[in-house]
Amino acid sequence: MVRSRRTVTPEGERPLAVAVRGGVIAALRPYDEPPAAAESADLGDLPLLPGLVDSHVHVNEPGRTHWEGFATATRAAAAGGVTTIVDMPLNSLPPTVDVAALEVKRKAAEGRCHVDVGFWGGAIPGNLAGLRPLHEAGVMGVKCFLSPSGVDEFPALDRDGLRAALAEVASFDGLLIAHAEDPGLLAEPGGPAYDDFLRSRPQEAERRAVEQVIALAAETGARAHIVHVSAAACVEPLRAAQSAGVRVTAETCPHYLTLAAEQVTGPAYKCCPPIREAANRDALWRALADGVLMGIVSDHSPSTPDLKVPDFAAAWGGISSLQVGLPVVWTAARARGHGLADVARWMAEGPARLAGLPHKGAIREGNDADLVAFDPDAGFTVDVAALHHRNPVSPYHGARLAGVVRTTWLRGTPVDLATPRGRLLTRGAR
Ligand SMILES: [Zn+2]
Repeated sequence: MVRSRRTVTPEGERPLAVAVRGGVIAALRPYDEPPAAAESADLGDLPLLPGLVDSHVHVNEPGRTHWEGFATATRAAAAGGVTTIVDMPLNSLPPTVDVAALEVKRKAAEGRCHVDVGFWGGAIPGNLAGLRPLHEAGVMGVKCFLSPSGVDEFPALDRDGLRAALAEVASFDGLLIAHAEDPGLLAEPGGPAYDDFLRSRPQEAERRAVEQVIALAAETGARAHIVHVSAAACVEPLRAAQSAGVRVTAETCPHYLTLAAEQVTGPAYKCCPPIREAANRDALWRALADGVLMGIVSDHSPSTPDLKVPDFAAAWGGISSLQVGLPVVWTAARARGHGLADVARWMAEGPARLAGLPHKGAIREGNDADLVAFDPDAGFTVDVAALHHRNPVSPYHGARLAGVVRTTWLRGTPVDLATPRGRLLTRGAR
């Protein structure tokens, strides 16, 4: 049993005792009437959150394990209050574009994970017939790129390829998630500076690609999701499509909400789409508040430090933030007047729903007892060398943040970072 006067449920903060049996939340009782239990923790006024669900993580194992791996990524996740991650299909070798590759990846992950791990499949030119088998093998959905992905083994879909993939996914009521930038509106950066890079990937490229996904989702009836929205210009097309009943959702990331082009100091900040001007952030926060954006996920995408060269045109694009996403978001959310229940909705409940994990993402009877004791008032300074992900690169190094994870429970048991007890998940199952 774990109890807190500030237990964060989908209905808000409540004084509750969470009774756990067999790793599952067996009952929610009033804080002052806790059930008898063999083991118990009383957090008092320390908030209890649902374990976060991060549906956008590039683990890179096997094949680029020197960039990141299952042991290091899931240790970072657990230390950061994330109890479920969903791994992206690219940057590992092979990429997860067929069932055989999924099996290779599951074998690589087996016995190494400190939190639960699910998998996205990939939709690339030529693997249309493999999408249904991937779905049936339990991936959460399939990801595609509409512009070059950064790795040759994971090519982008063109408009016809996207339409065909959406039609195929609609035939088994699956989910297609898309990296939405229109390659026709992207340019080679005119120089090595951040401004050159930012100008080469304008908001218009994102907006046009989002509109293409919306149009084809409407035409095919498929369920589609836009990953890592960075541009405020995407918000109104998404809002209009959702109002019209098109089955399209979208996420954003901590870096688009809290960092700004004006403060970029080095290639640790490079990602695609880019971190934009400070003024762009307000629209993203508003879109979260009104539900046009369903959640916040890390897009944790590390590399070795040598690939983060000072030339922004040549540097590897990807931000490492898995362990600090919760305090990064909380620090900014609190300053904007949001509460812990908002953060839990964006970082646990929303991503769990997206990934088809009905037993994750909320403190609710019958769900897995994935829990986080979180001190929202404690502060700390990020030391990248002390984070658990493999390579010590992060734009948050040196940041002063509010919010410290005290304990993370995975299915009722505190995570100790030495004993990997995470499970490999399939869509809809425990
Ligand atoms: Zn990504």
